[in-house]
Amino acid sequence: MPMRIDPWGEAISRDYARLMEEFGISSFDDLADQVPDPSHLVRRKIIFGHRDFGRVLKAIEKGNSFVTMTGLMPSGRMHLGHKLVVDQLIWYQKHGADIFLCVADLEAHTTRKLTLEQTRKIAIEEYLVNFQALGLDLRKCNLYFQSQSDAVRNLAFTLGTKINYSMLKAIYGFGGTTSASHMFYPTIDISDILHPQLKEFGGPRPSVIPVGVDQDPHLRLARDIAARFKDDYKFVAPSSTYHRLMWGLDGGDKMSSSKPETAIFLTDTPKDAELKIKDAFTGGQPTASEQRELGGDPSRCVIYEMCVYHLMMDDTELLQMREECKAGKIICGECKKKALDLLKKFLSDHAKKRKEAVKVVEKLLK
Ligand code: SF4
Repeated sequence: MPMRIDPWGEAISRDYARLMEEFGISSFDDLADQVPDPSHLVRRKIIFGHRDFGRVLKAIEKGNSFVTMTGLMPSGRMHLGHKLVVDQLIWYQKHGADIFLCVADLEAHTTRKLTLEQTRKIAIEEYLVNFQALGLDLRKCNLYFQSQSDAVRNLAFTLGTKINYSMLKAIYGFGGTTSASHMFYPTIDISDILHPQLKEFGGPRPSVIPVGVDQDPHLRLARDIAARFKDDYKFVAPSSTYHRLMWGLDGGDKMSSSKPETAIFLTDTPKDAELKIKDAFTGGQPTASEQRELGGDPSRCVIYEMCVYHLMMDDTELLQMREECKAGKIICGECKKKALDLLKKFLSDHAKKRKEAVKVVEKLLK
């Protein structure tokens, strides 16, 4: 049966090889060696796939203009899974990208039934303040709210002239009960992706959209429509990179704010974190003696994953943790304590940085 990816759903296949084959995503291994100053996300193969990323690398190498575009959907609390995109934006900002950051309030409004006022509050308190506190300089980004951009809306109506119901049904699985606004939403989304290439925003140039593989349907549609409007706008097909999604703390496929007990939120207190880590799923054996005898399996351990993605930036230390786990030299209790200490430090440092970030965001949106 063909695979379908739902950008608004909870479930996503962990079979990345099959996803890549089915949807024509190239392996990032082909390009990883050419990435200057590679981040831990590249070194650790968390970013595993791409479409046409070579042209973005070329722009970086030559010092040419390029765009990094992303959106945030303000519908719940920001968790560590969301942080992956911010880490990439920070890297792109350091490497000269013209960053477009869209607050996808219309998306939250149409797919999560929130009012625009509610989405604005969530966007500011949960996302923008956290983005700034993590190290992205929002003052140097093209930040906009989807509902307030005439350029995005107008382009969406034009792009929509070459999109029909059959295409949307094939890509998103829309059916008889999908609302008209939800059905129109992908047109807005691809307009977000393509509008930085309009003349008034810098013109046609390479662009990259770093996403979890669950967002690939939007990329496929955007690339298809960019080609259909090539004569009108001279769009360069948007490039994309794909990162692995963080698991939930219970070992589920995707960390999600709709299951708060399985997510570490950026505004969790150290006490919250302690309770959640205590119950987190590991790749350990049922008893300490079996663990010492047989070793654990870091490849299916949420604690190890958290260290790989966010907590342990030193590759040697991480490798040591992995080897000690496999050899049964550490047991899960000790390992959880180590990860929890790192997590608590991260959360308390972040809480301090948020205070300064609130002032920056307030000034920016005044
Ligand atoms: Fe995971 Fe650590 Fe247990 Fe290994 S020892 S399974 S890395 S918690």
